Amino acid sequence: MRLSRYFLPVLKENPSEAQIVSHRLMLRAGMIKQAATGIYSWLPLGFKVLRKLENIVHEEQARAGHIAIQMPIMQSADLWRESGRYDDYGQEMLRMKDRHDRDMLFTPTAEELVTDIFRGHVSSYKDLPLTLYQIQWKFRDEIRPRFGVMRGREFYMKDGYNFDLTKEDALHAYNRHLVSYLRTYERMGLQAIPMRADSGPIGGDDTHEFLVLADTGESEVFYDSAVTDLTFGDRQIDYDDRAQCQTILEEFTSKYARTDETHDEALFNQVPEDRRRVARGIEVGQIFYFGTKYSEAMGATVQGPDGKPVPVHMGSHGIGVSRLIGAIIEASHDEKGIIWPEGVTPFHCGIVNLKQGDDEADAACDKIYKALTALGLDPLYDDRKERAGGKFATMDLIGLPWRITVGPRGLKNGVVELTSRRTGESEELSPEAAVTKIA
Ligand code: ATP
Ligand code: MG
Ligand code: MG
Ligand code: MG
Repeated sequence: MRLSRYFLPVLKENPSEAQIVSHRLMLRAGMIKQAATGIYSWLPLGFKVLRKLENIVHEEQARAGHIAIQMPIMQSADLWRESGRYDDYGQEMLRMKDRHDRDMLFTPTAEELVTDIFRGHVSSYKDLPLTLYQIQWKFRDEIRPRFGVMRGREFYMKDGYNFDLTKEDALHAYNRHLVSYLRTYERMGLQAIPMRADSGPIGGDDTHEFLVLADTGESEVFYDSAVTDLTFGDRQIDYDDRAQCQTILEEFTSKYARTDETHDEALFNQVPEDRRRVARGIEVGQIFYFGTKYSEAMGATVQGPDGKPVPVHMGSHGIGVSRLIGAIIEASHDEKGIIWPEGVTPFHCGIVNLKQGDDEADAACDKIYKALTALGLDPLYDDRKERAGGKFATMDLIGLPWRITVGPRGLKNGVVELTSRRTGESEELSPEAAVTKIA
């Protein structure tokens, strides 16, 4: 993409409404624009990152054997009356009437809707296990929307639902989700720690939240610092291998790590004192096992091996896709701007032409641009007639991992400058070598 043809409305001044760094940087980098309280338009740069995160989620869900669907944003109240949640859900649910005076609502989550799909089409245990998921906009009329996309009212969420014959099968689905989430967050360049949590209005006994440690997080967390040494890495996972999934779950959840809702001071005190940490975290996902809560209320049964109908065991699993962008920025920035992890960066590399209009510099930039594109990479070429200082500031703000700086002086010696956004280190090398290094 050439910056002269792109739409990147960066702000010079710090927006006064933004209280935390990720919100400030998302506004300044022209990623989002507020449309109403807690509701945002996604501008090209923000939308690109959102799509990257979404793709990672889809890829990892596919790997785990989960199947994508898309359910509507508007729901009828009827199903929620069946489960009993229409009255229970409270004011976070945005309710409205259609022209025929029917009660409608904007989806805050979709257990009822997916259970209705299931009971309408699945009748035998032979069709299990089944996990359906979607990535869809949600609306919750949060009492205090704030921090930009971190706590929006409209937000983008992956929500998945497993249907299993037995509790044991459903617990395997739970473990599978935990493992796939660990992989997902790590690909996004994040450490998200599974912590024992409280199930809230979804209901159920088993639940973990995934938290990214950050001072601006809204949850208070208590953990054994040894959990932060765990990394998923590139292990090979067989998602049908129950023992493997169980072992990984144990590896990542046996050390003390809890949110304030389930914190147990006596247990915490058994952690060696020098490893006890009290901190803050951002909830970027949660997994639940809730058994037959919805299947019994809504009559979602299958015929078991003995021919008798049994209610299916279920769980639900969510990832806050739009919130993750805020979390990534909270975890990865400096005073100049965002520092994107490679896996989610909107562009792989910026090209800064120090002397736009100079034949040689223009030709060299074009050549680098083509070479990167030919390798399947996505460069952003600042081809505007601007001063170098302004171009550098924009590149630092939007945080691309690499910058190639091209100017007549360097080209005389056959070199360009390659700069890493994360380390700030620069080196001079030939345009070809710079391209190779990025790829
Ligand atoms: P929170 O405790 O932050 O209100 P939640 O526990 O109500 O979140 P879940 O029902 O577990 O949310 O939804 C799954 C994920 O969706 C959360 O882990 C979070 O990452 C994301 N999410 C929830 N509410 C919001 C929101 N208002 N804005 C952005 N993301 C959200
Ligand atoms: Mg909530
Ligand atoms: Mg929560
Ligand atoms: Mg939650």
